[in-house]
Amino acid sequence: MQIKTLLANPLPNAGADFMDARVQILVRGIVQGVGFRPFIFSLANRRSLKGHVLNNTTGVLIDVEGESTTIRQFIDEIKSSPPPLSLVESVECRHDLDPAYFTDFRILESDSSGERVLPLSADIATCADCLRELFDPRDRRYLYPFINCTNCGPRFTIIEDVPYDRANTTMRDFEMCDRCHAEYEDASDRRFHAEPIACQACGPRFFLTDASGREVAIDREVDIDREVDIDNAIDRDVFCRTQRLLLDGAIIAIKGIGGFHLACDALNDEAVSRLRERKYREDKPFAMMAGSVEKIKEHCFVSKAEENMLANERRSIVLLEKMPGSIIPRAVAPGVTKLGFMLPYSPHHYLLFAGLDRPLVMTSGNMSDEPISYDDKDARARLASIADYFLCHNRRIHIRTDDSVTRVFEGREMIVRRSRGYAPAPIKTAFKFGREILACGAELKNTFCLTHERFAFVSHHIGDLENLETLRSFTEGIEHFKRLFNLRPDVVAYDFHPEYLSTKYALSLDDQLTKVAVQHHHAHVASCMADNCIEGEVIGVAMDGLGFGSDGRFWGGEFFVADFLEAERIAHLDYIPMPGGSKAIREPWRIAAVYLHRALGDEFLNLDLPFVTKLDRGLWAAIHKMARTGTNSPETSSMGRLFDAVSSLVGLRNAVRYEGQAAIELEAIADRSCREGYEFQMARNGSIIKAEAVIRSLVEDLLNGISSEVVSAKFHLSVANLIASVARTIRDERRLNRVALSGGVFQNMFLLKNVCHRLEASGFEVFTHSRVPPNDGGISLGQAAIANANLARGRI
Ligand SMILES: [Zn+2]
Ligand SMILES: [Zn+2]
Repeated sequence: MQIKTLLANPLPNAGADFMDARVQILVRGIVQGVGFRPFIFSLANRRSLKGHVLNNTTGVLIDVEGESTTIRQFIDEIKSSPPPLSLVESVECRHDLDPAYFTDFRILESDSSGERVLPLSADIATCADCLRELFDPRDRRYLYPFINCTNCGPRFTIIEDVPYDRANTTMRDFEMCDRCHAEYEDASDRRFHAEPIACQACGPRFFLTDASGREVAIDREVDIDREVDIDNAIDRDVFCRTQRLLLDGAIIAIKGIGGFHLACDALNDEAVSRLRERKYREDKPFAMMAGSVEKIKEHCFVSKAEENMLANERRSIVLLEKMPGSIIPRAVAPGVTKLGFMLPYSPHHYLLFAGLDRPLVMTSGNMSDEPISYDDKDARARLASIADYFLCHNRRIHIRTDDSVTRVFEGREMIVRRSRGYAPAPIKTAFKFGREILACGAELKNTFCLTHERFAFVSHHIGDLENLETLRSFTEGIEHFKRLFNLRPDVVAYDFHPEYLSTKYALSLDDQLTKVAVQHHHAHVASCMADNCIEGEVIGVAMDGLGFGSDGRFWGGEFFVADFLEAERIAHLDYIPMPGGSKAIREPWRIAAVYLHRALGDEFLNLDLPFVTKLDRGLWAAIHKMARTGTNSPETSSMGRLFDAVSSLVGLRNAVRYEGQAAIELEAIADRSCREGYEFQMARNGSIIKAEAVIRSLVEDLLNGISSEVVSAKFHLSVANLIASVARTIRDERRLNRVALSGGVFQNMFLLKNVCHRLEASGFEVFTHSRVPPNDGGISLGQAAIANANLARGRI
């Protein structure tokens, strides 16, 4: 069978537009579970075309007969205005067929034979039509918290297997009632083949219990229109009661789409603080949900782009600049100037927010850094000591999926945590993956990635692979993706770091597989390149916490000339010891003292600085000895550690309670009106960057009474100047004009903005992250791209 692409081979005109034609059209992309067949059905009927449409293992297959002009228009419309949630990858046509003399247009049963690699849709926020019905007393799904349709509702979180049919989702626990079934079967209905279709009569329900699991008695609270079925009101009463409990200060575990949230009144300082205590989460900011963009605007500045980001069908947590007058208590997000807000994305959120005039804290349902709870039994066990009540439902969540976190940088999305609403939709790449690759990602903020042709199926956020539960999510997640997308990777890419659990996993796999170790920061740069669909050599700047270097030391302040094949390290921050290893990450004062000693020698102990006067001399002596002898003091060139040190020196943080806290708080205080920076110095022909002069100037400023706000800003600007200056030097030598910026340090918006402005002013083309995070969540994509390039070149 010969399939030609339409663009290359326009339909034969055969001399007359009146002549009947028959064309088979294969549409590939995200075209199943998104209302594609009913769309084709109504399109064909409107144009009086005959034939049929069906789902097969590669996409949607259409067979039509009619006038060739009409068919051409039909195809144009498929391309130009497909259903909102679909993503048309390609439209291929075959027109060497004999007439079939179709008499009508039909939707046929799925054809599930053959090879299958089919992108699946992510979970989608409640659509406007469903929302209207949800609050329409005449609608039979009035106030039903699981209302959904072909254009909205859960997908990825409920799929157990493919094809995406109800029997392969957790909705198989509920048998459709006759009315739902009729809608499901009716091609003209907007719930035609909406797999999670349900109603009060047949679908899942919410119920409210106390912490011990006893159901809370619900009083009749709502005046009901006589036309309304009494069943509808029961749901509303559960939500009214939940609302009142929240307003009274209760902490409630709420089961949602991808897992449990812990909710409380965001304006109730005492409740928020209690939640912190119970969750053992001392400082890390909580996300909030508000009923409308207007409500969010009472607390944050929201640009047009940010408003669109909040309101799109993914409904991520969007990081927004807090307004000075906001009454959100400090306990929600201590020490930072950004607040994370999201809008309701499931019908039950809308019911929860109906008539509620304030935001709620909606943080992931877990203890401290554990993965989010998604299984009822597990949630009851793990959250019982945190939540006063549980608002649960009886639809199972198959795949735990956290809320995504995103932000807008210079008008463009810059994702921070890619999860619900994004996964498992693939990242499309500019190049083709020659083989199917599994890339295992990093240790923290892990994602894995599987590839097929031009698709990189980057997983949802798995989390920090430091406990068994997360490791299980990782290994089970990989198996699930392999099954869903019918992938059989024979190449495994992994990080150099021998202690990463993702590396150990890769090495434990079958030796028949081709295994490719990838340096962490090369992966960062490659991920930024793949994110931006660029190829060839770039100046790669990778700045982050720590990554294992090819010399066995910990890198993190790196300048490369890189492409997908290799990364040549051109310059890096000078190595310093981290006395105590991981303890030095949790206690930035150790790094600060090491830098002070580097810059000023033992003299630093005489400085009249709060940092020094408070320093425990005995402890410093021990630390200094460790650093000098190299005992448990791995060396690092990390820029993240330098930010930590400065945060400690200006008096912000001697110890951190979550990853990145010291740097985040340093960014928060930076005086935005500041224009000058300090000077880094270059050694060994410009290949080693020394921070001693920066530290000396910074200390001098502090001794002269310059505020920590100004010192923070000057430090940020010195790093921005450094990056621009090193990039210019590399350009002069290598004739390269493109710069890719990657690594967790570039989540610092004050730094990133200043770096981009300087580079652009120098005429560089600058690439930052958008579709995958700059942090380690993007590593898996970079690993896959690098493994692919090296395989293609026969280097492996
Ligand atoms: Zn809908
Ligand atoms: Zn029903």
